Amino acid sequence: MTPTVLLISETINNRPVQPLEDLVRFAEELFPGSRAKIIIIMAGQDIQLQAKAAAEATGIDVIALEDHRLLLPNPELLSKGLYNIINEVDPLYICLTHTPRGCQTAAFLSHALQASCITNIESLKYKNNTPLFRRSIFNGKFVMDIKGHGGRTILTVVPGAFDNANEDRTPLKPGKVTVKNLPYESDESIGFIPLQLTSMDDSDNSLEEADVIVSVGMGVGKAENVDLARDVASLLKNAAVGASRIACDMGWLSHSKQIGETGKKVAPKLYMACGISGSAQHIAGIKNSQMIIAINKDPRAVIFSIADYGIVEDLTTFLPILIDKMQIG
Ligand SMILES: Cc1cc2nc3c(=O)[nH]c(=O)nc-3n(C[C@H](O)[C@H](O)[C@H](O)COP(=O)(O)OP(=O)(O)OC[C@H]3O[C@@H](n4cnc5c(N)ncnc54)[C@H](O)[C@@H]3O)c2cc1C
Repeated sequence: MTPTVLLISETINNRPVQPLEDLVRFAEELFPGSRAKIIIIMAGQDIQLQAKAAAEATGIDVIALEDHRLLLPNPELLSKGLYNIINEVDPLYICLTHTPRGCQTAAFLSHALQASCITNIESLKYKNNTPLFRRSIFNGKFVMDIKGHGGRTILTVVPGAFDNANEDRTPLKPGKVTVKNLPYESDESIGFIPLQLTSMDDSDNSLEEADVIVSVGMGVGKAENVDLARDVASLLKNAAVGASRIACDMGWLSHSKQIGETGKKVAPKLYMACGISGSAQHIAGIKNSQMIIAINKDPRAVIFSIADYGIVEDLTTFLPILIDKMQIG
């Protein structure tokens, strides 16, 4: 029997959050040579137009899951809607993008379907006809290959890991669009309802335009130490301060300063990574830098593997000395 792979396209306000083609490419690598039936699900309000566009772009059948409460991300409600569809189409694999919402939906589904769940997949290989899913662990110091048990499995795939932006993929014919409505759910039976989506001020484009970026990570330890990076930047021409996602999550810098896969992609002449471990998600945003200097007290930090120069030192020791020398110079 031909296995079915279900791809859940994450949408906010009817717009896909990540390019759908990433998940399509992943499904095709999972079953090379069209050995599986792929179905896409898009959820939202009046989402048929977007579903039609996806079916035309990919040539894959799309199910449009309709409900006005799915305009904003609601993993719990979405998983309730997916549950019936999954029982109907009986997929072997259910694939989502590895975002916080995707992971939440995967957790709800895993529980409801009693299906296993493998998260954070970065690559895929086959051994003895069995797919092995690869993910990084311990800040990228190790990679782990994971084998499923062969039954229904939920997978979350790292955004951009199966990027196929350069491929011409115009399909011979468009896929079919089917519209389904969310089964009746009273608001009281839903755990939470998102109320509104407010966009953060993202007008700061200083990072994209800077020649030098001094970036801080979790290693700065506290908000006051970000001043060390600001001081270095203030002594250089056209320099800006950036941060890893964790440093932004800590509230040390605004999210408009986040660099990486889900932040800004930068290409400065010089990128200084201070107390940043070098996760794949961070590196995705800095790999086009002309030169990378890393300051980290852990000599085994992954950031050193892509840095042109590495300084193994506590940044609270190194940066004040650097600032002193720059001021004298
Ligand atoms: C879907 C998804 C998307 C993501 N998108 C992004 C993204 O866009 N950008 C991003 O950055 N992350 C992103 N992440 C998070 C990412 O996986 C890492 O968790 C994050 O990059 C780690 O940040 P960090 O290097 O600052 O912190 P850590 O990994 O905690 O590293 C801190 C480093 O500081 C060093 N250190 C500690 N103290 C000192 C000191 N005194 N002096 C010098 N060095 C010190 C440590 O040795 C360590 O290497 C994403 C994750 C997911 C799941």
